[in-house]
Amino acid sequence: MTQGADDRSRAFPVPVPDADTQPFWDGCRGGELRIQRCASCGTWLWQPRPVCSSCQTPGPVWTAVSGDGFVASWTVMRPPTLPAFADRVPYVLLLVELDVGVRLIGYLVDGDGRWLRSDGAAEGVEIGRRVALRFHDQAGTPLPCWTLV
Ligand SMILES: [Zn+2]
Repeated sequence: MTQGADDRSRAFPVPVPDADTQPFWDGCRGGELRIQRCASCGTWLWQPRPVCSSCQTPGPVWTAVSGDGFVASWTVMRPPTLPAFADRVPYVLLLVELDVGVRLIGYLVDGDGRWLRSDGAAEGVEIGRRVALRFHDQAGTPLPCWTLV
């Protein structure tokens, strides 16, 4: 059976790991959030990179972190969106500042990591709210997401 154009357009986007990001995605598959840290100056680094952006030391060390942090910003995704998300809008996209100081983007999910169809009002989403890491499976790829605590 071949996949038609409509099937492909309704597919959820998933990340394509490369040499710099493969350890990050391997961590996610193991239920662990890994962030690079420079072994020389201690700077936490995001996005993944081969060299420290602060002191230029090569080979930052992948380090497991709790994933705890706070909402630095957020928005509500509404139509129009990618066709795959048509039945899932509205949903909340968070910019989370981890306690180690780097910022990642992820979906707001419930405490069990399940998708939340919400505009954030019922949950009380606001800048500064504490969040905890969860992983949400998107088309077979565990994505780091956050739930309010
Ligand atoms: Zn450094």
